[in-house]
Amino acid sequence: MLGSLQLLQPTTVGEASSALRDFAERGRIYAGGAELLLLMRHGFLQSEILVDVKKIDRLHRITSNDGLLCVGACVTHHALETDPVVREHAPSFAYAESQVANVRVRNQGTLGGNLCFNDPHSDPGTVLLVHNASVTLGSQRGERQLQLNDFFLDVYETALEPDELMLDVRIPPLPAGMISAYLRLHRFQRPTLGIAVALKMNNGKIAESRLAVGCIGPKAQRLSELETKINGSSINDAKQILAGQKNYFRDLLRPVDDLLGSADYKLYMTHVLLGQALEQATISRHPVISFPLDGERTG
Ligand SMILES: Cc1cc2nc3c(=O)[nH]c(=O)nc-3n(C[C@H](O)[C@H](O)[C@H](O)COP(=O)(O)OP(=O)(O)OC[C@H]3O[C@@H](n4cnc5c(N)ncnc54)[C@H](O)[C@@H]3O)c2cc1C
Repeated sequence: MLGSLQLLQPTTVGEASSALRDFAERGRIYAGGAELLLLMRHGFLQSEILVDVKKIDRLHRITSNDGLLCVGACVTHHALETDPVVREHAPSFAYAESQVANVRVRNQGTLGGNLCFNDPHSDPGTVLLVHNASVTLGSQRGERQLQLNDFFLDVYETALEPDELMLDVRIPPLPAGMISAYLRLHRFQRPTLGIAVALKMNNGKIAESRLAVGCIGPKAQRLSELETKINGSSINDAKQILAGQKNYFRDLLRPVDDLLGSADYKLYMTHVLLGQALEQATISRHPVISFPLDGERTG
């Protein structure tokens, strides 16, 4: 049961930020409520005032300028999986969005809510890392840009200041000729493992690579050191290199045993799925979208 709550509905970033500053610990940003209301209902979070940011127009926009896709923080997962501009610009991201939870959560939950909550078992952040995405954070003090990599700090921890809200996510295109893939392992609705790969091939060799892993440790991570190691290799050689990286994966990704699997299982599957994603990134028909509009899972 939820106790009585006060709902504020600011229409500007400045108003929302002032409310966060004034109410401090008593206030919380409320977007889709998919996470927030669950936490409050189960007594994990107490809040007296909800600052509903959905009345702020700019948080709902999807725009594309000079090849840069800008997605407002309140755009829902469902809008992202179905938007033709998003599917064309970042097909693996749109695909990842189509795999989030179920239709109800995808209609209710927002990209901003997902990234700001920073639950490790999430899909969008991993694939956004291979796009070198950045986020715009705003308050009554102004706006700032941060690389998504720097925004994610630790489990449920981000670089947001107490009076800040996320305004949008900026998604650059992949370099010309680079193809991406997103693979996910799940036993329940939330993913056990998410793998994002983007490759540019030249004469059967990897000319440039971007790799990211999410879900198995505290936060989604780029594998920059491994990217350097596999550049110049064939896909088969790259898979051999992956096979010898167990310690690197363990140190960087810090996998944990939980209900979704043991740390050893997650590490093993990281190497398996990375290999599969490398294969897929050489054959995906980017930028043609090859997944159905409603996503593969409709449950
Ligand atoms: C049953 C279930 C299954 C799920 N499965 C998946 C899955 O498979 N993959 C996956 O990726 N995710 C999954 N999720 C998570 C889901 O994607 C997120 O819950 C959702 O995106 C959160 O968005 P929201 O708008 O509902 O956030 P809210 O619940 O409204 O807010 C979440 C948190 O973010 C803060 N917040 C929200 N918007 C902003 C903003 N603009 N600026 C600053 N802070 C903000 C809030 O204060 C709160 O702390 C699942 C959730 C549920 C309930």
